[in-house]
Amino acid sequence: MIRIDNLVKSFGTFKVLDGLSFDVMPGEKLALIGPSGSGKTTILRILMTLESISDGHIEICGDQLYHMQRNGREVPADEAHLHKMRSHIGMVFQHFNLFPHKSVLENITLAPILTKGTPRAKAEARAMELLEMVGLADKADARPAQLSGGQKQRVAIARALALQPRIMLFDEVTSALDPELVEEVLLVMKRLAAETDMTMLLVTHEMGFAHEFADRVLFFDKGRIVEQGPPEQIFSNPREERTQSFLRKII
Ligand code: ATP
Repeated sequence: MIRIDNLVKSFGTFKVLDGLSFDVMPGEKLALIGPSGSGKTTILRILMTLESISDGHIEICGDQLYHMQRNGREVPADEAHLHKMRSHIGMVFQHFNLFPHKSVLENITLAPILTKGTPRAKAEARAMELLEMVGLADKADARPAQLSGGQKQRVAIARALALQPRIMLFDEVTSALDPELVEEVLLVMKRLAAETDMTMLLVTHEMGFAHEFADRVLFFDKGRIVEQGPPEQIFSNPREERTQSFLRKII
């Protein structure tokens, strides 16, 4: 579903990702963990085409993200190609990024109507189903400012799902929430992980949640994968000293 091969990303002279390679299988639930600044968010932003790459290859759903073969030569991808690649992916951000002057329902229906040409009635019916799923059907007419942080994040999840992506990216979606609001968002995500065959990548500092959510955990440090494996192995029996010291500090 996703193939990352020898990916390098530099900001100026600072190499954030340093020859990173990993694959994600269809339907897999992956948790990316590691110290602050290790490049986890940058990976998600690259997959969402919010950041360019410095070198390497990325394949999503069988297509190269940044380079297409034309007459046997590699050429930079054009905007239409990037648009198509983005349509495979939904992303939920730490700070919700809802449109403040639109209602909850409009926040969810805007992209399907504008980018996919979905008829309004159909987009609204689907949005109501999604609001039902995240437990917020009664907030359809509310504005984001009238919602708690946990409710805003659940709307953001519904909004990303409205475009029916094959891959969902979650970037520290509970980090900006008061502790008592974290659980309601995690519950929605757990249900989503259990009930759908979407491929999901989660960047998180919540180790308990990563353990429950993920089929596979990738531990990053300094733009490289130090260790990866099933959550039982990474959390209960990490092999690498760097993973052990990170987990000792955080758990
Ligand atoms: P955290 O857990 O704190 O979110 P992270 O592992 O997600 O950290 P990234 O956000 O990917 O780390 O950032 C990796 C490094 O790249 C950091 O040192 C950060 O300062 C740097 N960085 C990220 N975006 C930019 C940018 N646009 N310009 C310059 N440096 C950047």
